[in-house]
Amino acid sequence: MPNKTSDAGDHAGAPMIEAQGLHKRFGATPVLKNVSLTLRQGEVVAVIGPSGSGKSTFLRCLNHLETIDSGRIAIEGEVLAQTDAQGRCHYASEREVRRICRKMGMVFQHFNLFPHLTVLENVIEAPLRVKGLASADITPKAEALLAKVGLLDKRHNYPARLSGGQKQRVAIARALAMEPDIMLFDEPTSALDPELTGEVLRTMRQLADEHMTMLVVTHEMGFAREVASSVVFMDAGELIEAQPAQAFFANPQHARTRAFLNHML
Ligand code: ADP
Ligand code: MG
Repeated sequence: MPNKTSDAGDHAGAPMIEAQGLHKRFGATPVLKNVSLTLRQGEVVAVIGPSGSGKSTFLRCLNHLETIDSGRIAIEGEVLAQTDAQGRCHYASEREVRRICRKMGMVFQHFNLFPHLTVLENVIEAPLRVKGLASADITPKAEALLAKVGLLDKRHNYPARLSGGQKQRVAIARALAMEPDIMLFDEPTSALDPELTGEVLRTMRQLADEHMTMLVVTHEMGFAREVASSVVFMDAGELIEAQPAQAFFANPQHARTRAFLNHML
């Protein structure tokens, strides 16, 4: 499915995330049941569904914050994990897993900024530590990212001095500083007061307009409808339905999707 923001007639991009038949349990509780999804270059896919349906777990499995029990995950064609013929799940080596997962940036509901570091220090922390870059080399880029999210003037402030919307925009700049090919968002506006969600959604929309590949767990139906190229609905660990965004809202196929949308809209 081509990105809505791309020119008409564009072909779908290369697969960036391929998840096939993912299963995951916490103890005896199945949390992901046979979840499959392909995210292509430049696509923005919104993941919606009730609380507890496995949305966060799905995202966290993709970038190895959780492990899957079975299935296959490939990122830009490189296999992160896959189940063999005997049903055993094999992960790439630790070093490979780290390298592969660095292609993805993640933004969480609760920002997770370092409170003892300034805004600028938060943004340069990972490139300094992980890429071994010098502060002088990464600072201009970090400042450009802060300008992009509208927070250059806050670069020497500590997170405690920022609003929730500002913190989340710093978190987005921080993820972008690692130059990911894919951005994963887990309910980035759910912890925000309603009047602060708009500024974060605008930043995300800007990224989408620049053709960033994005997988976004959200309860913001307006964002899903207007920005996402396609929408997937999860319920009780299953991926129930995936459709182009317009078709998803105009003509949901499953009764569970319809019930959820009636409740949300
Ligand atoms: P969602 O993001 O859709 O709200 P989650 O992926 O957070 O759903 O959770 C799916 C299910 O897995 C829930 O029943 C939740 O309680 C359970 N769960 C999530 N994380 C853990 C964990 N670390 N240990 C045990 N159960 C968990
Ligand atoms: Mg969640």
